[in-house]
Amino acid sequence: MTTSPRVRGWCPGAWRPMASSDGLLVRVRPRLGRLTRAQGLALCDAAETFGSGLIELTRRANLQLRGVSEAGWPSLMAFLVEHGLVDSNAEVERRPALMLAPDWRDGDATHRAASLLVERLETWPTLPDKWGLAIDAGPEPVLTDASADLRLERSSEGGLLVRVDGRDLGIPVDDVDDAVALMTRLAWWFVDVGGLEAGRMRRFTAPLPDWAAADAAATTAPAASGPHLVPGAHPRGRVVGLPFGRAPASVLRSAFCAEDVTGVRVTPWRRLLLEGEGGADAAPVEGLIDDARDPRLAMDACPGAPYCTQASVATLRLADRLKGRLSERLSEQGGGRVHISGCAKGCARGRSAEVCLTGRDGRYDLILGGRADDTPVATDLSPADAIERIVAVLEST
Ligand code: SF4
Repeated sequence: MTTSPRVRGWCPGAWRPMASSDGLLVRVRPRLGRLTRAQGLALCDAAETFGSGLIELTRRANLQLRGVSEAGWPSLMAFLVEHGLVDSNAEVERRPALMLAPDWRDGDATHRAASLLVERLETWPTLPDKWGLAIDAGPEPVLTDASADLRLERSSEGGLLVRVDGRDLGIPVDDVDDAVALMTRLAWWFVDVGGLEAGRMRRFTAPLPDWAAADAAATTAPAASGPHLVPGAHPRGRVVGLPFGRAPASVLRSAFCAEDVTGVRVTPWRRLLLEGEGGADAAPVEGLIDDARDPRLAMDACPGAPYCTQASVATLRLADRLKGRLSERLSEQGGGRVHISGCAKGCARGRSAEVCLTGRDGRYDLILGGRADDTPVATDLSPADAIERIVAVLEST
């Protein structure tokens, strides 16, 4: 184990934390998208002992601790390794991240494929840090909107497909072993033919090789996407939302400590699935979203100032003020309606939102139907004006 952090300006990992205004950001990638109850509680302890006490759930279904000091980082890493939250080998943590459809069951195709990939990733080439895989082999894909360079999902006819990001059609495979073999071959192809320069599969426009070309048969079209998990009772337990993707460790500890909770599954929707028999009867936890009508579910907001060095605006404060002005009807119409971004990088949401505010020099630019870096329709708005403009747009739709 090394004794000093390698601070990087982007894509933090546990072994390569990123410096932010409030200290180091240390990201934990739960194995198979799941923590045991004991690991969840250990993560809460780690956040309070070594960090600021805040835990964030990212849109790539990772958990991150904020406010870690450089002096405290080696002890934090020892603690995370001891609890099986981080691998002691930094190279293992550099391998592509796996995102699993959160309601996988032991022995199903998602679980088997992900387990096999975890074993085989040591045979993969070194890939860009942001590379990721979605393992989404339930009856209907649920991770379609989540970022992944390769994904395993079902075809509209129920077979298994491997789909390269940016391509509408997938490549049919017979079983999980074939899927993992094909993903491995595609990863090597990406590196061998110059994909590293593009960085992500979506940006790499080279035609796929003959052995991976998809024809337009129905067997190669992915099945229609299924719904995301919504807060409330779930057949596997209970789903809770983290307001704008973050919560104090003390709040999460209360949720994890509930008597019947056996584990925690992460999702890319800023929601956790608390595994446990008594989900339907569980009492709401103060500080978490337990109601599918909560307007915050329709909003994305990055940490902004004072947490991020790039931010000149307090995004979370504005999001909180806006919440009180938005009706519950908003979340019933689906997520992604409002995006509040501290700068044009748009960390909280890579895709378009109905209304987006982007911070610039302490004020906000307003973008309609676009991303944080798109052309604004209004600029230089105060927080109060920005709120009025958003409310007016949403009320008119
Ligand atoms: S969008 Fe900008 S301000 Fe917000 S977290 Fe990302 S880099 Fe920081």
